[in-house]
Amino acid sequence: MRYDAAIIGGGPAGSVAAATLSRAGRRVIVLEREKFPRFHIGESLLPFSMDAFDRLGLREKMEKAGFIHKHGAEIASGCNKQLRFYFKNGFRSKRATAYQVTRADFDKLLLDHAAETGAEVLEETQVKSIDFQTGGVRLQINGPTGEREIEADYVIDASGRNSLVGNTFGLKKTYHDLKKFAIYAHFDHVSRAEGVDGTLTRMVRTSRAWFWMIPLSATRTSIGLVMDLEDFKASEKSPETTFTEALEAQPVMKCKMENATRVSPIYATGDYSYRNEKFTGDRWILAGDAAGFIDPVFSSGVFLAILSGEEAAKAILGALAAPPVREKLFAGYHSKINRVMDLYLDLVLGWYKQEFIETFFNPVQHLQLVPAINAILAGNDGRSFAIRWRIWLFHKVVRLQGRGVPISPRLTLEPNAA
Ligand code: FAD
Repeated sequence: MRYDAAIIGGGPAGSVAAATLSRAGRRVIVLEREKFPRFHIGESLLPFSMDAFDRLGLREKMEKAGFIHKHGAEIASGCNKQLRFYFKNGFRSKRATAYQVTRADFDKLLLDHAAETGAEVLEETQVKSIDFQTGGVRLQINGPTGEREIEADYVIDASGRNSLVGNTFGLKKTYHDLKKFAIYAHFDHVSRAEGVDGTLTRMVRTSRAWFWMIPLSATRTSIGLVMDLEDFKASEKSPETTFTEALEAQPVMKCKMENATRVSPIYATGDYSYRNEKFTGDRWILAGDAAGFIDPVFSSGVFLAILSGEEAAKAILGALAAPPVREKLFAGYHSKINRVMDLYLDLVLGWYKQEFIETFFNPVQHLQLVPAINAILAGNDGRSFAIRWRIWLFHKVVRLQGRGVPISPRLTLEPNAA
């Protein structure tokens, strides 16, 4: 059988693309090399994905799964500064919550949903290679029944950081300023605030690294450490030792973890930030991490995976219905996803600069700059002029702070400092 679209990867980008295509009556196949549920990192979602869950008929299933409703985020510093923001206070906020999810459960729920909407889902099936032909693609796959070929009009590469098509065409560009290393694990009994504040993602910025704390259930918390890859290499220590010592050295983390027990292996990954030069070709579209991944700090990964998965499917639906408009639709897809990635890239690059953090902890309280940042961190695509000029002004204030204009108090980000 020939498919309208073949999708490589059954993560959020692939599952959302598959459900969007099959709900529109298209023949679609998802090829996923793992058997779900499987561990994956990327647990804190953004409110703008809630609309996609509604559109895809997923909301009830998400509620039934019992994922925590996330109300915002807390940014703390090694030197004990603290700032909480709640999505409900974002600029023209429409969604007050998102979810915190255990990815093994969330990804399975999404993939099963894609199958229920009519997509053919093959797990434990790896795409080995792709042959790009005029008028379609041929995929070499290897699954439980052995090797075989499948044909489709279009392929969506949603293979995550494996980025199958990007690597095939040599499109991957890494960010020199974002060579980072992350170490993470799940813990039980990490102490957290009661009520709404206990649902927040907590980011703790120290002078050379940062931690995340993401509540996953009543007892379970995801804890991660992100540092410069160079610092990790230079230390010549194992990820386990680095993680344990870093937690021990930060009072703001240590005080929350006095009764904590680790309940997962310690995972580590590095040098994960890149973007492909282009996201579309004649018969292919890249979605999610397969298009690019910026940095975990503002929890934009799954949001971008869902956004691009849905938009990629819509572009292909349009191209299947009216082939002459394909180029225009694919170009529109590339520029939309690229622009949203740029928005996050600016904030992420800022996060690693001292002046950005100082401005963050002493935000300019006028002109609704903080609600505008809040809206972007909720997933607003920042297209409206009202948000754009505020974000521009915020970055301007940060630059002035960096040039020594005393707008915000200087911080050390070190423990026990003023
Ligand atoms: P994936 O979820 O990676 O799915 C890709 C799938 O493709 C996988 O299941 C894989 O098995 C399959 N695959 C790969 N190659 C093949 C092949 N050849 N054949 C068949 N199948 C294949 N994001 C957030 O939103 N919030 C967070 O808090 C967050 N924290 C993060 C922390 C760290 C340290 C990192 C590195 C990332 C974090 N992210 C976070 C990002 C998030 O993990 C990703 O952006 C998200 O998983 C992307 O989804 P995806 O569907 O594009 O890819």
